[in-house]
Amino acid sequence: MIYNRRTQLISVSEALQRLLSSFHPLQSEMVSLADAAGRVLYEGIRSDLDLPLFTNSSMDGFAIRSQDVHKASKDNPVQLSIVEDVPAGKTPTIGLGKNQASRIMTGAPLPEGADAVIPVENTDQFDPKTQTSSGKTGEVWIYQSAKPGDFVRHRGEDVHEGDLILEANAPLKPQELGILAMLGKAEVSVYRRPKIAIVSTGDELVPLGKTLKSGQIHDSNAYTLFALIKRDYADAQYLGIVPDNEESVTEILKSAVDIKADLILSSAGVSVGVFDYVRKVVQREGELDFWRVNMRPGKPIAFGNFHGVRFIGLPGNPVSAFVGYEVFVRPAILKLSGIPRVPRHKLKARLVEEIESDGRESYLRGIVTFENSEWSARLTGHQGSGNMLSLVHANALLVIPSGVKSLAAGMEVDTWLLE
Ligand code: AMP
Ligand code: MG
Repeated sequence: MIYNRRTQLISVSEALQRLLSSFHPLQSEMVSLADAAGRVLYEGIRSDLDLPLFTNSSMDGFAIRSQDVHKASKDNPVQLSIVEDVPAGKTPTIGLGKNQASRIMTGAPLPEGADAVIPVENTDQFDPKTQTSSGKTGEVWIYQSAKPGDFVRHRGEDVHEGDLILEANAPLKPQELGILAMLGKAEVSVYRRPKIAIVSTGDELVPLGKTLKSGQIHDSNAYTLFALIKRDYADAQYLGIVPDNEESVTEILKSAVDIKADLILSSAGVSVGVFDYVRKVVQREGELDFWRVNMRPGKPIAFGNFHGVRFIGLPGNPVSAFVGYEVFVRPAILKLSGIPRVPRHKLKARLVEEIESDGRESYLRGIVTFENSEWSARLTGHQGSGNMLSLVHANALLVIPSGVKSLAAGMEVDTWLLE
């Protein structure tokens, strides 16, 4: 019975459900704000301050009392005497009385009595003796009227003490680091980053930089996976290439256990070929939950654990490995990272051509465009699962449900936009 369950071809949704049920968010750690970009917030953050923290000027100019200047204009300037300079970073010491102004800089606190600021462009400082512009002495002509609050940033107009600023379980964006710094948060509590061990398997694989002999290919999956893992806020550690034999496969999987990987991600060697040792080793030394999923590309996808470490074996073909990652690995890694839902950009698009499928849930490489006020979808060309260029040219995966063998031109199709 158990044997049966393990060899069954299962649906994508069942596979995903079984897989996700064994992934749980990691614990938290404190990191300095400087290291917090892209880290996933563990707890929501409330402000214990008002922002701005004090009422201040939004312009370089003159802090004034609006009632003193309500008749001011270019032809009818109002004359005020300057009582103080208030640069940013200083506290005003003199409150304004009738017909008084303080010269104020952007970001400086507003003096007592002032209720508005006149930008310097609409003023002239002058020498009262000569009645000419001087820029130095203690009088200013105001050429503009003002309403209370003009060019003033009020305490708390952006944030109130106690406001919820950021919700937990999302990666921190640059602008969010900015507001955390405004709030004085030098450290934040984030989820630990998952550590993903990447293993490439196959006698034919050669690392980049080595010349290919007959029948050999470069290990490309490692690079694709490395970049996908990085995109998904996790750390990737490439353990290298192993040849197709049980001892080497066992040894490299053990080294993933040694480095305390949260997930082992291998590619190739999980199919039905006589040299597909990865699945056999996982079955022997750990547990295999499933290894065949009713999807295209990427039917041989294995999930289980090796010596207690979660293991996902992706197919070897580069496009299958990519699709397998998007469908299964991404949600799993995001869940470990504390992100409960995959932020996938989905669109319904109208097919501009007929699409054949084979009844498996299919993820086809396509191009989605906005034409004649609707989204249209077409394939990028040959869908062979080793053909990477058709994935490079794609901007979406077209998702064809299981049981569907063909979709006519003009029908709607679900698409996932690729980033
Ligand atoms: P397998 O799953 O071992 O049957 O491999 C399926 C196909 O994927 C074969 O053509 C392999 O050569 C190819 N393949 C396996 N691993 C990689 C890799 N790391 N990079 C690129 N192609 C690979
Ligand atoms: Mg192989």
